[in-house]
Amino acid sequence: MSLMDDTAVTLGKRIKSGEVSVAEAAKESMARIEKMEPSVNAYVTTIEKEEVLKRAEEVQKGIAEGVYTSPLAGVPVSIKDNMCTKGVLTTCSSKILENFVPPYTAEAVVNLEKAGAVIIGKTNMDEFAMGSTTETSYYGETKNPWNIEHVPGGSSGGSCAAVAARECSYALGSDTGGSIRQPSAFCGVTGLKPTYGTVSRYGLIAYGSSLDQIGPVAKDVTDCAAILEIIASYDAKDSTSVKREDYNFTEALRDDVKGLNVGIPRDYFKEGLDSEVREKVLNVAEVLKEKGANVSEFDLSLVDYAIPAYYVIAAAEASSNLARFDGVKYGYRTSDYEGLHNMYKKTRSEGFGPEVKRRIMLGSFVLSSGYYDAYYLKALRTKALIKKAFDEAFEKYDVILAPAAPTTAPKLGESLSDPIKMYLGDIYTISANLAGLPGISIPCGIDSKGLPIGAQLIGNCFKEKMIIRAAYAFEQVYEHSLPED
Ligand code: GLN
Repeated sequence: MSLMDDTAVTLGKRIKSGEVSVAEAAKESMARIEKMEPSVNAYVTTIEKEEVLKRAEEVQKGIAEGVYTSPLAGVPVSIKDNMCTKGVLTTCSSKILENFVPPYTAEAVVNLEKAGAVIIGKTNMDEFAMGSTTETSYYGETKNPWNIEHVPGGSSGGSCAAVAARECSYALGSDTGGSIRQPSAFCGVTGLKPTYGTVSRYGLIAYGSSLDQIGPVAKDVTDCAAILEIIASYDAKDSTSVKREDYNFTEALRDDVKGLNVGIPRDYFKEGLDSEVREKVLNVAEVLKEKGANVSEFDLSLVDYAIPAYYVIAAAEASSNLARFDGVKYGYRTSDYEGLHNMYKKTRSEGFGPEVKRRIMLGSFVLSSGYYDAYYLKALRTKALIKKAFDEAFEKYDVILAPAAPTTAPKLGESLSDPIKMYLGDIYTISANLAGLPGISIPCGIDSKGLPIGAQLIGNCFKEKMIIRAAYAFEQVYEHSLPED
């Protein structure tokens, strides 16, 4: 039994009581990394042992002195490699940032540090968070710890695989169109995307700024609520940050769904959904019903328009956000060029991978004059209609139950050959980003190939507590364990 088998909250309690030292926990995390990385490859960077132990000592002292009082003080954490960490390489899994060492730390990570977190490493991801498999990383693909012939999902595949392989206690991911929820489902862990504006995006390297949110990846719902409580904050440095009235997410950890109204969107269970996934996700509805929730089906129209709208908006924002990587301000610069324009061109041609280039081209196209109205503006209108459809649904329902993905984790190499098919796999997650809603993915079964299945609970804006409550209630009856080594 490893200390990394504990949930983050349990380990935090053991550290607080003095049963386990911060250094012991950190050493165990590093030992697991050494053991698992050759097969899983969940990390782009791991922090030097001496650095980690120095931090562990500092946190241990801080706990004794009452400086660090958070339930997660001293617990080892990993950070997705698109969040800036001062003095620590931050690559976004791209060649273009292969030598980028940020001079500042992302606000969400600062919040963790203030709570006494011990950072163990930076996790692998799809390049610039564009993808659903962690195969577009410049640093090699991450593999699914349940079966290393399969992808871990993406783009936060490194964070989710690291938690599933118990290389750390918990991790941070980011979710622009499902990148926390989908890989959590594929790796059999729990991941939460908060309401847009809840966690500061300051220091998160932008992909689609109006959609990006940082959130927790962990072993269970209790951990997710505890982590969210730490990372959520109002931040004047992020102009879309929201001052919320209530940050007490752990208060919602109650096994009580009596009277909760759960809606099942019929359109999410039509053809295209794997039958084993359908069965296990609908079983979540059964469990909640037995516990006293009111469950009914409804029509959530516009489902078919979500993917085109998302890919137009996300690519448009990406093409603008990624313009800054030009060989002048950050990272990689081509070694051999003639004049400024040629330097830009060669740097970007050599520094970005094919998926990122595809998005930049698509984004520049939909924003160009002549096509702006036909594509970008239309996508924004569609986004508004999707938000309206959810607003109407939430007049009736507290929580919407959906699959996190249409299938379980595909085999490595299967998705890259057909990008459109890969984009279609985001069907159940992207609407929550377009509408800014919170969503949680929880393990709810194992398919006949032995791979985990995830169910998604979506709530109205600022109603994280509703989804935490429903997810927690289901978790009380569902026996789940992580994969054997
Ligand atoms: N798969 C989606 C995309 O490639 C979502 C990625 C994400 O959430 N970062 O855009």
